[in-house]
Amino acid sequence: MATPQRKVPTTSPYARPLYKWLDRLAPIGLALFMLTVFVDYSWWMVQSPARMMSWRGLIFFAIWIPTTLFYVIMAVKDIVQNWNSRWEFAGPKKRNPLADTIGVQKADSQREFFRSVTGKRYDLTQRPFFRWLFHRRWYQFAAQLPNVIIFNIVIIAGLIGVVNPNRNFATVITWYVWFGVLFVLMIGVGRAWCLICPFSAQAEWVQRLGLFGKGKKLLTLGLKWPQKYSTLLISVFFFLGLTWAEEFYNIAGPGKPAFTSMLVAGIIIWDLFYALTFERRSFCHYGCPLNGVIGVVSAVAPFEGFRAKDRSLCKTCTTKECMKGSERSYGCGWYEYPGSMSSNFYCGLTGECFKGCPYENIGLAVHAPLKEAYQPRKKRFDVAIAVTLMMGALFFEVINATPQYAAFDTWLSQTTRWDVVAKLLDGQVSAYPNPLDYMGIILLWPLFGWGVARLGSLLSRGHIAARELLTRYAYGWIPLFGLGILARQLPKVLTNGPTIAQVISDPFGFGWNMLGTAHLHLYARNFAPGWILYVQLGLVVVGGAASMFVTQKITQLDFHGRPGARAINWLMQGVIVLQMGLLLALYFYIALVDPGHPLSPPF
Ligand code: SF4
Ligand code: SF4
Repeated sequence: MATPQRKVPTTSPYARPLYKWLDRLAPIGLALFMLTVFVDYSWWMVQSPARMMSWRGLIFFAIWIPTTLFYVIMAVKDIVQNWNSRWEFAGPKKRNPLADTIGVQKADSQREFFRSVTGKRYDLTQRPFFRWLFHRRWYQFAAQLPNVIIFNIVIIAGLIGVVNPNRNFATVITWYVWFGVLFVLMIGVGRAWCLICPFSAQAEWVQRLGLFGKGKKLLTLGLKWPQKYSTLLISVFFFLGLTWAEEFYNIAGPGKPAFTSMLVAGIIIWDLFYALTFERRSFCHYGCPLNGVIGVVSAVAPFEGFRAKDRSLCKTCTTKECMKGSERSYGCGWYEYPGSMSSNFYCGLTGECFKGCPYENIGLAVHAPLKEAYQPRKKRFDVAIAVTLMMGALFFEVINATPQYAAFDTWLSQTTRWDVVAKLLDGQVSAYPNPLDYMGIILLWPLFGWGVARLGSLLSRGHIAARELLTRYAYGWIPLFGLGILARQLPKVLTNGPTIAQVISDPFGFGWNMLGTAHLHLYARNFAPGWILYVQLGLVVVGGAASMFVTQKITQLDFHGRPGARAINWLMQGVIVLQMGLLLALYFYIALVDPGHPLSPPF
């Protein structure tokens, strides 16, 4: 398994003055960009004296000025502290000779565990450009900054902008654009969203008291997250709670844009609380409602994440800067150790390990899609339960569009008096969705998964435990879930997404025309003819086929030669086909029963 000794360069190819100046000028350019956006928005606000003198202007400047001031002060601090090439890549250390004896033996003894790093892969860090980029301290900051600006505008727009969600930047960018892009990013690149995430960015900047430099002091109590609560299920329950709240308050439109602001601001404050209390990115592991979905769907992506190139070297490395941090890098925010990573599940692509490893032993490989779903030897029970719960949430999202569900939900709310409580909570008039049927439908899927696993265990005549079957085969559901949920977002993204052209010029609906596109009337129907339904169905079929492929691979890799493996494989394939068929029928049905729907098929 260990790779042969590599030739490592002894000096940095980027020590030349051009690169040094680029290093210095890039952060200055980013800081200036930030200031330009600030000045531009403030200018347009000042141009509307009636609004500026109202409570709207007060909220705008109360959020806008302190946040920009914080970023500018931090940027200046980082630039001054790092002016003299502290970002410069120092050149790799010589390879430890023990790596070729002791390290190789140790790495070989774990060959089976690390089977995920085998097969055809292309390491992007072979390209000088990527090596240069990942060594830059401002690499992540540059990726985060535009998003941070966008989501700060979202908070302001929802609070002070017009109530019409289709004219308000907060609703349009968050639910009609971002939510669709998020799933495309997960399926294409893995945790690319986490690289540019504005929630963790701002919390981490406060925790590190800097935007991109490597400081020495941290602003946090640095508590460790209790081991016994270290499970993905926390994040999945937050996701389910958030999904329910989104449906109840209709946050994703046509509800009030202010709810979107509160949601985004709430996540940022919540993240900040974690960052000030716990070490590193504990929020990402145990607080973020998106963590479970992103981690799971990332398994579909053809991206490995940052990982050690040669594990035999790691076996003899005593300093472990990739994990613990170094002079020029922070330790991995996700507490990952690249020398033992076997999946991209928790790689947030921050690149700190790449900067930290003194041996240049970190790579970022691209490989065939789906590999991260079936290759890892270590598959986790909490991830499996999370997958089944999220599949339940996907089915709820589709079932809730049927008239039968609407009738049942209304009946249940009246029977249980939930409609009275819902009124007090300022929810929808219909009190939809009743928490009982919401959780009831979702919980059907873990129960179904468990029942199938029990049946599989019977087919193996008790030789394979149901828990093991559920743990391993639930990974096979991931592609169907990933593409199925993308299909669910598609109508909203394609029908309402084009309004982004208007709102980027007039984000608050005040009649501004910042980019000259405020009067571009791009109507949904121009972009969402009946064929979108067929794209949805196509995505589900591709997801189902990919799930069947992953299931087959799991049988080959994890259960080969074990009792009943063939019969179990048929059973698990049947489960995928059943779920795929159900999704196809539901997508078709909801378009069919709603002839006014822009997605109803052309017949
Ligand atoms: S896990 Fe959540 S908070 Fe953390 S980077 Fe990803 S999306 Fe952002
Ligand atoms: S990846 Fe980490 S453990 Fe491996 S050689 Fe580099 S610093 Fe050491």
